[in-house]
Amino acid sequence: MKFTVAIDGPAAAGKGTISKAVAAHFGFAHLDTGLLYRAVGRKVIDTGAAPETVAKSLTIADLAADNLRTAEAAQAASKVAIIPEVRAALLTFQHDFAARLGGAILDGRDIGTVICPDADVKLYVTANAKTRAERRFQELRGKGSDTTFETVLADVTARDALDAGRDTAPMVAADDAVLIDTTELSIEAAIARAVQVVAQRLNG
Ligand code: C5P
Repeated sequence: MKFTVAIDGPAAAGKGTISKAVAAHFGFAHLDTGLLYRAVGRKVIDTGAAPETVAKSLTIADLAADNLRTAEAAQAASKVAIIPEVRAALLTFQHDFAARLGGAILDGRDIGTVICPDADVKLYVTANAKTRAERRFQELRGKGSDTTFETVLADVTARDALDAGRDTAPMVAADDAVLIDTTELSIEAAIARAVQVVAQRLNG
């Protein structure tokens, strides 16, 4: 069975957590597409190579690098993500993943609009910037980071502006996406809502 779920939304809205939980619930495979852009950004910083060249030669091993979750990698990701040739180079990998049998969930910024416009389910997960920054701040502190809330908020809002403002595949909810605003929602409630939307489509 081919069944594709597209989950988009801004940084730290809960997309990753919801995607993993929905994937586990239904036994679907999950691809965090942000990792592709982080891996390109990271390699550009480390090697000084052109982003387009890095994107064309990206390997699975690059996605397993251990320093992709840093704010530095996130900012580098947002910068390379503006470049149309970088996005084009990452298309086939994402299309192949979406087409795999047994169900696939892809989360990112342009999954429901550009990568999988025919996805069976589209969700747009969002929350206000302060709430997202607070969550990311607590997560980073929990991992031992000495960052400040103000730094995290500045990163989140700068990335929002880059991601929503770019010409190619900007971050935007697809017209047919179901909106899940997690500002006032517990993570359990957000997951339950996402599971409900997917189950309705699977059963109906
Ligand atoms: O989702 P995550 O925060 O890891 O993504 C890092 C960056 O990668 C985003 O801020 C965005 O610029 C870029 N990205 C994108 N399209 C996607 C996924 C991520 O442009 N589908």
